[in-house]
Amino acid sequence: MIKIDENKIFQVIEQRKPRSVALNGAEALLPKLQDVADHITEKCGIEAYVIGDTCWGSCDLNTHASDMLGADILFSVGHTVAMETFGEKVFMINAFDDVSFDSVAEKCAKGLKDKYKTVSLLTDSQHLEKVAGVKRIFEDNGYKVIIGRGKGQLLDAQVFGCEFYPAWNVQKQVEAYIFLGQSMFHSASVAMSTEKPTFMLDPYFEEYSQVNDFAAGLQKRAILGIYKALDAEKIGLIIGLKEGQFAHVRALELKKEFEKLGKKVQLIALTEITDDRVQIFKGIDAFVQVACPRIAIDNHFKKPMLSVPQALALIKLLKKEPIEDFLKIQHWL
Ligand code: SF4
Repeated sequence: MIKIDENKIFQVIEQRKPRSVALNGAEALLPKLQDVADHITEKCGIEAYVIGDTCWGSCDLNTHASDMLGADILFSVGHTVAMETFGEKVFMINAFDDVSFDSVAEKCAKGLKDKYKTVSLLTDSQHLEKVAGVKRIFEDNGYKVIIGRGKGQLLDAQVFGCEFYPAWNVQKQVEAYIFLGQSMFHSASVAMSTEKPTFMLDPYFEEYSQVNDFAAGLQKRAILGIYKALDAEKIGLIIGLKEGQFAHVRALELKKEFEKLGKKVQLIALTEITDDRVQIFKGIDAFVQVACPRIAIDNHFKKPMLSVPQALALIKLLKKEPIEDFLKIQHWL
């Protein structure tokens, strides 16, 4: 069950004495946020707004909504807490899943014993508190376990869907990665970025599975998208308007590169980058979006839609340079 650090919320309210607050978080957390909002109003007598728009990560804080509501504080729940605050108004609040990994970790440690001797553990923010226990289980089964160091917004062992420093930094020392949590989104990106055997521990079904085949499928689609965009005459270059994904400068850099290579480029700004929205634009043969790389890598679009690493690979292809390893980088932005 997901537990939200309400104590931290009440501490902040006590110290800052806001007139109203707003809460946001991943979609799955919204019902929990409704309860937290009720608790805040009951206990502190202030308005608490639940922001119901999508919120994909600390890159998608939606402070604009909070400002429009006039909220003095925005609590962003369930994303990284490596940085406790963003500016004066945003407080990052921990939400962790108390599900046990003991049984699935034991099963995986025993199952992979004859194949690997050194592994690294990775997870998302919800399961960071389980890393120490799973490490002990693997060590008791004879493994050497290496935990990669965090960087920037990532804590040790933590990865985002586009940022993998703790995995990347130890890849020469380990034979395989073990990802704690039921997230193909995160574990497949580790597999794509490192190309090492990567296993996902699902604590709910108490099963572990290797995700490299699934990751290879995503990677193949990402490569296909690049080749489909090769002959595009006009590229729609989309700047995402979510504040933490806003990469205006990057877009202009790419525009210049594409134009040097003879492509026409139309600059487009969009908040939600979906197939329905982009179909509205006429005369565009392929799109590049500089917001979240996973929008292009994980979703289906009728016309080619490339992320930043795919766009950089396309530029290389247009220059007749090789593109292998374009996803084997520690940050896909
Ligand atoms: S994968 Fe997308 S949503 Fe997740 S941190 Fe990266 S940019 Fe944000």
